[in-house]
Amino acid sequence: MRGDAVRSIVAFAVILSLMVFSIALSTASGAWLISMDAPLVKVSSSAAASSPPPDPAPAPPPVEQTAAKAPDPPAAEPPATEPPVKDPPQNPTVSDDYPSDKPIKNTNPSAKKIAFLTFDDGPSEEVTPIILDVLREHKVKGTFFVVGFNAERHPEVLQRIAAEGHRIGNHSYSHRIKSIYRDSNVLLDEIQSCDNAIASATGLHPRIFRAPGGSRPFLKPALAAKVTEAGYQYFDWNVCPGDAVVNGLTADQMTRITLQQASTKSYIIVLLHDSYTMQQTAKALPRIIKGLQEQGFTFQVIEPDTAPIHF
Ligand SMILES: [Zn+2]
Repeated sequence: MRGDAVRSIVAFAVILSLMVFSIALSTASGAWLISMDAPLVKVSSSAAASSPPPDPAPAPPPVEQTAAKAPDPPAAEPPATEPPVKDPPQNPTVSDDYPSDKPIKNTNPSAKKIAFLTFDDGPSEEVTPIILDVLREHKVKGTFFVVGFNAERHPEVLQRIAAEGHRIGNHSYSHRIKSIYRDSNVLLDEIQSCDNAIASATGLHPRIFRAPGGSRPFLKPALAAKVTEAGYQYFDWNVCPGDAVVNGLTADQMTRITLQQASTKSYIIVLLHDSYTMQQTAKALPRIIKGLQEQGFTFQVIEPDTAPIHF
């Protein structure tokens, strides 16, 4: 009997130990599972099994507080100031002001600052009419150095240029810089063919010429002499907005370059273009006109006796 009693006690003790161990193990595993989702909150195993999800753990510091300490995010709009633009190369021998020892003809004597707006390489159906509209709106006359080939294709545009009081100039027939300066015969043929195209559309024979690419380096002294002998005066420029650069400038950039270059001068010939890709030129033109007027310039057209600018 005594042995049975001892075995019973031992058996009871074992069962009791197993029960205690089981309860302890259950509680521990429940706490572990909870801790995987919400490590900062201790809940009972029963609560984890049957209750709605516990309240979320304390939130980390608000994102706004963290962001407030960080630098301002980049603005969605581009910065107001444009990146610097290198001015197109300009011939350094062109003086800033028109030399005072040469007479300035065909100008308003009361005007102290004179600007000539010149438009090369047209006429085009796409851009020339827009430019003419802008000039009419601002009551400004310009000078169009046209390419004969384009004049033949768009005589009606050329007629409008003349009818609205602008001047037309000769800019060669083909504008092929690699061939037109080969010798004086080729160059004079180019000029004559352009004159024929201008005359057939308008009846005019303008005696003002702009050398494609500019007189330097292309119009060598011997060629320049032939052009002069043929009765033409040729005109370069001293303000170059760069509207014909390969990658293109924006209207804002052209405007800024024009006004910057003009700001130190009192007699300017501005080189612009009205060929069919020059929409940005047309877009810039109202601001160029307004800006030059604010600098005190008045506008004139180029005539054969206008004091030239030569490179
Ligand atoms: Zn040209």
